[in-house]
Amino acid sequence: MAKKFDVVVVGTGPGGYVGAIRCAQLGLTVATVEDDRPGGVCLNWGCIPTKALLRNAEVLHLVESADRFGIKVDNVRADYAEAIKRSRGVADRMAKGVEFLFRKNKIALFSGTGALTSKTTVEVRGAAGTETLEAGRGVILATGSQPKSLPGVSIDEKLVISSNGAVRNETRPASIIVIGAGAVGMEFADVYAAYGSQVTVLEALPRVLPVEDEEVSTLLSRLFGRRGITLKTGVKVSTVKPGGPGAVVETDGGRLEAEQVLMAVGRGARTAGIGLEAVGIQLERGFVKVAPTMETSVKGVYAIGDMAGGPLLAHKAMAEGVIAAEAIAGQHPRPLDYGNVPSCTYCRPQVASIGLSEAKAKDNGRDVTVGKFPFTASGKAVALGETDGFVKVVADKATGEILGVHIVGPEATEIIHEFAVGRTLEATLEEIMHTVHAHPTLSEAALEATLAALGQAIHI
Ligand code: FAD
Repeated sequence: MAKKFDVVVVGTGPGGYVGAIRCAQLGLTVATVEDDRPGGVCLNWGCIPTKALLRNAEVLHLVESADRFGIKVDNVRADYAEAIKRSRGVADRMAKGVEFLFRKNKIALFSGTGALTSKTTVEVRGAAGTETLEAGRGVILATGSQPKSLPGVSIDEKLVISSNGAVRNETRPASIIVIGAGAVGMEFADVYAAYGSQVTVLEALPRVLPVEDEEVSTLLSRLFGRRGITLKTGVKVSTVKPGGPGAVVETDGGRLEAEQVLMAVGRGARTAGIGLEAVGIQLERGFVKVAPTMETSVKGVYAIGDMAGGPLLAHKAMAEGVIAAEAIAGQHPRPLDYGNVPSCTYCRPQVASIGLSEAKAKDNGRDVTVGKFPFTASGKAVALGETDGFVKVVADKATGEILGVHIVGPEATEIIHEFAVGRTLEATLEEIMHTVHAHPTLSEAALEATLAALGQAIHI
């Protein structure tokens, strides 16, 4: 006998769990299906455990540089296994939080692998056997993504690890080659380097964080270089083989050796084995094709999060979960503005951006004005001892429309939201200018960069 619900959600990452909760808020009965742990990649293996590790790296850096503050700290000993244990504890706590929210919202959780057997039924295969769930109003697919590798290089989680292995391994290699200088690669490079590993980052594209504004990549390269991290861009990896201290990486620029290799070349949608073919759901470039309501090519079946295409970010998945839930409940949700999703990298210093880079804005034919403010001129940043970086605002010269904002520096991932809200409200440079910013704050750098774009910066 099938168990009946209004909505069945497959996958409980940030897309799935948020979509399930929004469905419950709207009075729908909800079943969720999860083959791993509630919270998905984000809470268990991605966003949250990496942020815990990065915090450890930051604390270690502060302790090691305490001399700058006139504080003597001798015999600093950093235990990497303890950092991993703390990170696992943080992830466990957040995953338990999702289970709590499910109980609070009367959402059923089925452990096992879910697959569509028709457009209204999901079969769950788990340790307890096989069950069939029937969805009266809609199915939300939220199965996320998995790490990709390079052709011919297999991730064995020993010699060649993925981020999944990196957040679990309590031993840290003395040397590591990180392949891929996107957010994941740069964040792990930061952690390993802080703990003393010799880190080399390889990137096929001409610069690190290739999706960010060029000035951001240039500065971050300089700052990582200063920390002793080797960055090699425009380098194509051909093979990874056992040898030397562990692994030998052959590239078009020569041969490199390290104890371990971290594969951070991106992620691919998890679309296999979930019955997409059985009901005729269409894919587009490897991701499930969706309408602005998140409905797939099959009526009543929705897809959200990483499996539904980029950007592969947790907050984008959550926003899509809300849209799918509201569409199933018969509302008319506002489509997601994909051009206004912040992008954040939590390395030291942090990187955050929203909208168009200066180059993209110009490519789009916009006549731009650019304002830049360095944290060296921010009283708060100087007081904190964190002066690396800048805020850069790119705006339309004629109208003052804010086209893009690019931040490198302390708390960049928090400061960016001023511009996320601003852009949602279609704020212009003038409106940000007329907003009084508390002093002394890092956010004043956002105001000053805005003033600079208007030719009115005060503190530079
Ligand atoms: P996921 O979080 O991938 O969850 C999908 C869940 O569905 C998984 O638990 C999976 O096991 C389960 N599942 C899959 N198939 C089935 C099935 N057939 N039956 C039942 N269950 C199934 N994003 C950010 O925004 N900020 C960050 O700081 C950030 N850091 C990251 C760091 C790392 C190392 C990684 C790898 C990713 C990071 N991301 C970050 C990306 C973020 O984790 C993803 O964008 C986000 O998790 C996508 O959410 P989702 O709901 O689509 O799927």
